[in-house]
Amino acid sequence: MTAKKTYHPLVTVTLLIFILPAFSFNIFSHKAPPAESWCDRPLRRGLEKLAEIKTSRPWFKVYNVGHNTYAIDEPYNWEETIGYLILGKDKALLFDTGMGLDSISLVVKELTKLPVTVLNSHTHPDHIGGNSEFGQVLAMNTNYTRNNSARGYQHQDVKWEVRPASFCLSRLPNADTAHYYIKPFKVSRFISDGYMIDLGSRKLQVVATPGHTPDAICLYDKQAGDFWCGDSFYEGPILLSGDSTDLKAYKKSINIMSHFAAMSKRVLPAHNLPIADPALVIKAAAVFNQVASGAQKGAPGEDNTLVFDFGKFSYQIGQRFMPQLVLNKKP
Ligand SMILES: [Zn+2]
Repeated sequence: MTAKKTYHPLVTVTLLIFILPAFSFNIFSHKAPPAESWCDRPLRRGLEKLAEIKTSRPWFKVYNVGHNTYAIDEPYNWEETIGYLILGKDKALLFDTGMGLDSISLVVKELTKLPVTVLNSHTHPDHIGGNSEFGQVLAMNTNYTRNNSARGYQHQDVKWEVRPASFCLSRLPNADTAHYYIKPFKVSRFISDGYMIDLGSRKLQVVATPGHTPDAICLYDKQAGDFWCGDSFYEGPILLSGDSTDLKAYKKSINIMSHFAAMSKRVLPAHNLPIADPALVIKAAAVFNQVASGAQKGAPGEDNTLVFDFGKFSYQIGQRFMPQLVLNKKP
C-alpha cells in the first residue's frame, strides 16, 4: 500500500459518510481503533476458504493457493500484506517479503528447499521488510528502487505501522516496535520491463506497471494463467496518494493490466485477499479511464484525497495529483 508516514490522520466526518460503508478493514485502522482491535478481529472473510499450511511462525498465515504457489499473508496488521512464494522445478521466487516484523525467510525455508530469489512488486516498506534476509534479490532498474534498497526506511518513516492501533502486538510479543525500521538490501541484478524469470519449467514475465510507485510491477505466468499485480490492484481502497504517485503512468499501467487480466484465470494482489477475479481488473481499468476523463466524481476522503467507490474496490487519489489527469485528458 502506500505506507507513508503521513498516512494516519484522524478520520473526518466525510470519511465516515463516504468511505466506511465501502467495506475495507484497512480504512478502519485510520480512525484509531481500540488497541486490541487487530487481535480481536476475525480474519478477513474469504481467507477461511483457502488451504492453510501451518508453520512455526504464527505471525504469518500461509495458504497453498494452487499452481505450486503459497500466499504468505500478514493478517494481524492493518496493511494485510501478502507475499507469494512461487515454485518452479529448479528455483523459487519470493514476490515480496512483507513488513519485516517477523522473519519471513524462516517460513520460506519450511516451505521449500529450492534456492529462492526475491523480487518486489514495488519498494514500499510493507513489501521489502524481509529483503535483507535473502542473498538473491532482483530489482527494477529505477532511481526510486535504488534509493530504497540503499537506504531502507528509518524508524521515523515507518513507526506508525507498529503503533498499537495498527497491529496486534500480542501476536508478536518479541517485536521491537520501539526501533522498528526497514533494513537496506543488496540488489543482485537490476531488471526492466519484459524480463523473463525462469524457475525451471515455469516462466514469469515481468510487466512494468508504474503509477502507484515508479517501480511497480506485475508478474505474468502465461502457462498457469496467473497474474500477480502488487498494489496496482486489490480488493479494497487502492491508494494513489503517496509522494511518488503518477496518475498518468497508472492510467497506462491499469490498461496494460486489463489486457493481461483478460488472458488470466486469476489475479493475485499484494493486500487483503490473495485471489481476485480478473474481471475486477478489467473493470478497474474501465472506471479509471472514466476518472481520468472527468466522467466520475470523487468524494472527499481523508488526508486530502478523492475517493471513487466501485464496490469491491475503490480508488483513493491524492487531490494534489489530480491535475496530472487533467493534463492527460483528450481534447
Ligand atoms: Zn504500496
